[in-house]
Amino acid sequence: MEFLDRLLTCADCGGEFIFTAGEQLFFFDKQFKNDPKRCKPCKCKRSGIGLKAGTGPAAAGLSRTETRTECSACGIETTVPFKPTQGRPVLCRQCFQSKRAPTTGALVTAAATADMVAGTGAEHSAVGAELMVAAQAPQA
Ligand SMILES: [Zn+2]
Ligand SMILES: [Zn+2]
Repeated sequence: MEFLDRLLTCADCGGEFIFTAGEQLFFFDKQFKNDPKRCKPCKCKRSGIGLKAGTGPAAAGLSRTETRTECSACGIETTVPFKPTQGRPVLCRQCFQSKRAPTTGALVTAAATADMVAGTGAEHSAVGAELMVAAQAPQA
């Protein structure tokens, strides 16, 4: 499989940036389905990670441990209770849960079942079923 540099438009600043062949290969390797939406500066601004240490007010604003980032698997925006390492994939709660060890999944299933037994309505049952599907999803 060959990759060529592609010109993409940043969703934040509207500027063009290059999605390099190397990055495409990385995305392909990680099975990311979405192209990057933002140029690097905007991405850093949003996630609060300065490339250089101590990059002023933006970093200071994120004094809590929650860091905004994009899920590496499905691409939705999510928050994580830690600082993602550059280049490391970050998963949203759902993707994370579907990749977890079955032991934790069993706990979720038990909770969902209890919820259904309590008869808290059709809406809850649907959510419970969804949780069980996620919990029982085979590991990638
Ligand atoms: Zn931008
Ligand atoms: Zn996700």
